Amino acid sequence: FKYRNSTKAKTTCSYCGVGCGIEVSVDKKGKIELEGIEDHPVSRGMLCSKGRNLNYVVQDQTDRLMYPQMRWSKYHPLERVDWDTAIDRAAAVFKTFIEKHGPDSVGFYVSGQCLTEEYYLVNKLTKGYIGTNNVDTNSRLCMSSAVMGYVKTLGEDSVPISYEDIELADTFLIAGANPAWCHPILFRRIEAHKEKNPDTKIIVIDPRVTDSCSLADLHLQLRPGTDITLLQAIGRVLIEEGNIDLDFIQNHADGFDSYKEEVMSTSLEDASKICDVSIDDIKLAASYIGNAKAYLSMWTMGLNQSTQGVNNNLALINLNLITGQIGKPGAGPFSLTGQPNAMGGREVGGMASLLAAHRKQASPEDRQEVANFWGVDSVPDKPGLTATQMFDALDSGELKAIWIICTNPSVSMPDANLVDRAMKKAKFVVVQDISSRSDTVKYADLILPAAGWLEKEGTMTNSERRISYLPKMVDAPGEALADSEILIRFAKKMGYPGFEFKNEEEVYKEHCQLTKGTNIDISGLNYDRLKNEGSVQWPVPSETHPGTPRLFTDKKFYTPNQKAQILTTGVSNEADMLSQDFPLVLTTGRIRDQWHTMTRSGKVSKLNKHISKPYLEIHPSDAAERGIKNGDSVLISGARGEVRVNATVTENIKKGVVFLPMHWGKLMGSEFGRANNLTNKAFDPISKQPGFKYSAVEVKKY
Ligand code: SF4
Repeated sequence: FKYRNSTKAKTTCSYCGVGCGIEVSVDKKGKIELEGIEDHPVSRGMLCSKGRNLNYVVQDQTDRLMYPQMRWSKYHPLERVDWDTAIDRAAAVFKTFIEKHGPDSVGFYVSGQCLTEEYYLVNKLTKGYIGTNNVDTNSRLCMSSAVMGYVKTLGEDSVPISYEDIELADTFLIAGANPAWCHPILFRRIEAHKEKNPDTKIIVIDPRVTDSCSLADLHLQLRPGTDITLLQAIGRVLIEEGNIDLDFIQNHADGFDSYKEEVMSTSLEDASKICDVSIDDIKLAASYIGNAKAYLSMWTMGLNQSTQGVNNNLALINLNLITGQIGKPGAGPFSLTGQPNAMGGREVGGMASLLAAHRKQASPEDRQEVANFWGVDSVPDKPGLTATQMFDALDSGELKAIWIICTNPSVSMPDANLVDRAMKKAKFVVVQDISSRSDTVKYADLILPAAGWLEKEGTMTNSERRISYLPKMVDAPGEALADSEILIRFAKKMGYPGFEFKNEEEVYKEHCQLTKGTNIDISGLNYDRLKNEGSVQWPVPSETHPGTPRLFTDKKFYTPNQKAQILTTGVSNEADMLSQDFPLVLTTGRIRDQWHTMTRSGKVSKLNKHISKPYLEIHPSDAAERGIKNGDSVLISGARGEVRVNATVTENIKKGVVFLPMHWGKLMGSEFGRANNLTNKAFDPISKQPGFKYSAVEVKKY
């Protein structure tokens, strides 16, 4: 480490959307130690296994990219170059493509791990100056169905609740989520709350028996892809038993009559058969929700990562709306964010379909307002390519160059074999990352080494709209630079004005000004306040405003008539069709101690001890039918590829369903365990989020 003085500072964990507080100390020799912050409003001194070991991730620099590398053509090897040469080359190539093929021939694929300032810069650069909306993020794979669920029902992408509602709720619905492993500190808070208040009811909806089921009063182990039917059946029982809030429905919501007609069109008997959940359990879930004083629903990838992801969201949010369980203590629909700054990225409009501060990309007035603010003629109206569309466009040749920041699509994108092929065919690939163990690096024509957590400053927003400041505490290794510095150097080399920022704070200030007057106004929240007061929840419209824990307390929503929208879903299908060749449903997900494609968590030996290699969960009857025993090597095949791992035969998974963890790629030690060889890039028509949770496969002993 080049760090000179010992120091101590407060920061936020950089793994997940929970946003736990960490106090970090660095001694004169560069040794980093950390602990949870006792009075932190999110984590109250707690950290999960991943957060607790972040110091090892920073200190182990064996995998770090240290200097820029470049090749002059696809036939040349990568060679070390200096930053000027690297940025000159990137600018020359991008200029050539933009001049020859137009601005839509280039794109940026970024990450929910990026800090808000970095997101702001890449968004301004792409939409304001290059002139394309081709900037998307891996949050598309994670949150975009929840975003559209909120937009359609509440008028904007606005998480209405605060974590303090956990301790105020008496009934929880956890749907398509395993917070015990994926949002551990929030789960600890639910656990502690239930321990103190044993009458608290917890319903879990999941085809797997996960650790989160340990708290459940009721586990609805549904058939994958039947969430809408199940949630609507619960809605039907609530209506039939009069357990709805007529005052809320009449005065604060639209659409109840159509919703009622839709849910009444499927009998409980039919719903029970479709979902493989008993009528008694459907009725019990409805009675828990209907009798709740404060009902909090939580969900994540099980609902979002579906080709009917938006409708899944609508079906779940509808239950909060018909019962009036929103905008009051302990109540509301709470989408659990996956990544630490997925929400910050949405605030700046850093996606192909968004505009800054929740302005609407389709609105000419909104686009002009942003263009005027940036000092450019216009912001493009045509929606950009979303995550999976970008790789399709590279494959077809429509997109010539892609700049990938802080994400590893070779492992994380669905239909990964197609993604590999697309990057091989691309004319120019820039990879800006911290780790050489990203499988995407091998496709790079230009590698730009970036600074990581503690090595740069900026802000992030967690799942409850809480913005926190992350200080720089150590220098980045080698010649690595902060992502914001790299983007500013590139923008200047392209000759774009509007990037005369001296530091991240100036970028943040500009972003705050752009939010002024909107529903996410943070013009009253500056770096000084964040450093002195700690984290604050938006909106924060003035310097004396304390922040906003809960939205919609006045029952006025962000829709044109200020009413919440109870919406029907219609019929939609999952990504794949089961067949004789591929009769099993594959679902994928996280394990407790790893994060995404393991480029950080995978280098901590303590974390690898939990589960050290990928595996397939399969039900005993499915295994017996195929002559598979626990521990056998199995081949999982589907229409797009194959995976080879060992089988874990367990009753914790529903018959007819198999599960693979999503983390492993070649460079993290599994040649044949990449789950996304099997997943489908088909996406929800509204959110464009792919349906990772439903792929048709067969399993054979290998
Ligand atoms: Fe970090 Fe999330 Fe664990 Fe908290 S729960 S320590 S934010 S990984």
